[in-house]
Amino acid sequence: MSWALHFLGTGAAHAVELGSSAAVVERDGEPLLLIDCGPDTLDRYAATYAGVPNALYITHTHMDHVAGLERLFFKLWFDPARRGRVRIFLHAELLPWLQMRVADYPGALAEGGANFWEAFQLVPCTRGFWLDGLWFDVFGTRHHRPGTSFGLALRGSFVYTGDTRPIPEMLAVHAVGDARVAHDCGLVGNPSHTGIDDIEREYDSALRARLVLYHYGSAADGEALESRGYTVARASDRLALATPPVARTDAG
Ligand SMILES: [Zn+2]
Repeated sequence: MSWALHFLGTGAAHAVELGSSAAVVERDGEPLLLIDCGPDTLDRYAATYAGVPNALYITHTHMDHVAGLERLFFKLWFDPARRGRVRIFLHAELLPWLQMRVADYPGALAEGGANFWEAFQLVPCTRGFWLDGLWFDVFGTRHHRPGTSFGLALRGSFVYTGDTRPIPEMLAVHAVGDARVAHDCGLVGNPSHTGIDDIEREYDSALRARLVLYHYGSAADGEALESRGYTVARASDRLALATPPVARTDAG
């Protein structure tokens, strides 16, 4: 069985040419889970896979991570075979924000008769969630107000931080074994994102060797990060992952 993390976009919010940061967890070359859904993500998804994703995980509700959900609503609502069948996993604390920012527009359909969430199968979670017999851990990150951003981990395989400042306390728990760590990182940090100086201060060399940096400001910034000895993800890159061990329960 082969596993990979396929980056659809690797840019910061302003770096439109790099694509909104989003990735697909692939198992045996098939898409299992789309992580985040920015304004361009569905186009990038469709360029590789047929149709729309079966399952999504949302890290947080900044628009470069959720703006594609309105389009996905329309696609699903008018497809009776898919309506209500695409799962959206998200931390329960994100639900009020996602409701306000995406789902609450008056009249999901102009002609009426549609509730936004009926197009999806919404699965709020706290510690994590099951998908296809696999347990995915969900953990809080440091991005704007506490409780508004959550990373994802498939134990022993990968961690995807989402937008965040450094989170050594979370990676100590979730980035175990051979897990690769897709980490927010630009050339210069700021109050909501990690910079390369933060990476070098907060993480030891063993962990830094497992990092794959994304969410940077430009192609030149990506090259600058690479020249410092780091693995840098680019749109369309596939990162090979270790096969996750099967014996997991939601108790840890
Ligand atoms: Zn953000």
